[in-house]
Amino acid sequence: MPQLELDQVTKSFGPGAPAVDRLSLRVADGEFLVMVGPSGCGKSTALRMIAGLEEVTSGTIRIGERVVNEVPPRDRDIAMVFQNYALYPHLTVFENLAFGLRRRKVPEAEVTRRVRETAATLGLERYLDRRPRALSGGERQRVALGRAMVREPLVFLFDEPLSNLDARLRVQMRGEIKRLHQRVRATMVYVTHDQVEAMTLGDRIAVLKSGVLQQVADPFTLYREPVNTFVAGFIGSPPINLVTGSVSADGEPALLFDGHRVRLSDPIAARLASQRGGNVIVGVRPEDLSIASAAGDMFSLPAVVDVCEPLGNETLVYWKTAGGPVVSRQPGLDVPRMGDRAMLVAPFTALRFFDLATEGAIP
Ligand code: ATP
Repeated sequence: MPQLELDQVTKSFGPGAPAVDRLSLRVADGEFLVMVGPSGCGKSTALRMIAGLEEVTSGTIRIGERVVNEVPPRDRDIAMVFQNYALYPHLTVFENLAFGLRRRKVPEAEVTRRVRETAATLGLERYLDRRPRALSGGERQRVALGRAMVREPLVFLFDEPLSNLDARLRVQMRGEIKRLHQRVRATMVYVTHDQVEAMTLGDRIAVLKSGVLQQVADPFTLYREPVNTFVAGFIGSPPINLVTGSVSADGEPALLFDGHRVRLSDPIAARLASQRGGNVIVGVRPEDLSIASAAGDMFSLPAVVDVCEPLGNETLVYWKTAGGPVVSRQPGLDVPRMGDRAMLVAPFTALRFFDLATEGAIP
């Protein structure tokens, strides 16, 4: 039984398209689910509905065994971890952890037991008498999570907790959150617009666009088997290349890019059978492309170098091709120069195909 379940949950703020449109999700006990998508896709609204801070227009939210649509936030068995940690600066770590319990009139012996237990889990025993300003960012984050943990909620909710931090600290905190989850194995729902954060933290990731769930899957599946061009383009940096070619109408099965002809393997020809005579979008990741002297039995595209971006460990090479602009990652220093011509190749197994009209993956 899932710890959290959203069934056809919709939120409309007024006329027009809903902010969240029939969102269905099940989050298992102990799972780390990330909701990701561009600004305005409805991820914060979805999280706020789970928290009870926003009313549901239609649909059902279950936390544990209860339908919570009508349950006020404080009775929902959830804890929200905020962006700024919201610690009380004048209180010690112990008092910060104890604050919510004392306010709920939990007996003092029980408060002490829970605070000590949580501090032990999070490695905070040494800091119990300190004030937040005497803690590092990572330690403060642990206290913020500890404050949620002492309440023993069924589900933890995080709304972009790292977005205020600089890039280095963000990476450090990301690692910290991941370690914390591995240690406490609590059910967590985490909202971000950052695909790297989503990929590195999530057991599963739900990708939203304009209030509509596009795909929910583990990071590897999202990366390798995106259901449409939106998910394909959102996951991965630099993003996947999407080039448009036409599928030969007769003769041996081939993809055509201007005058260039790529002979298709039988399994791929079978997959593209319904597209014959039409156009198709080919998705190929920058890391799957390499430069070759001959195409061999691979997907190939003649290309001209537009711009090179050296990053030290590798160079991003931007190419012009008959299918549109393409980027590849070249390891090492031996990279082409602007204006160079080359044949880019990729194994057929690395290709994804998308319908030009629907932008959905062709299975
Ligand atoms: P961001 O990353 O920018 O926070 P988001 O994906 O979290 O974006 P939401 O904040 O959930 O997006 O907003 C989704 C849509 O709902 C947006 O179009 C937003 O303008 C709209 N919206 C959010 N809150 C309200 C509100 N209180 N009243 C009216 N419209 C709202």
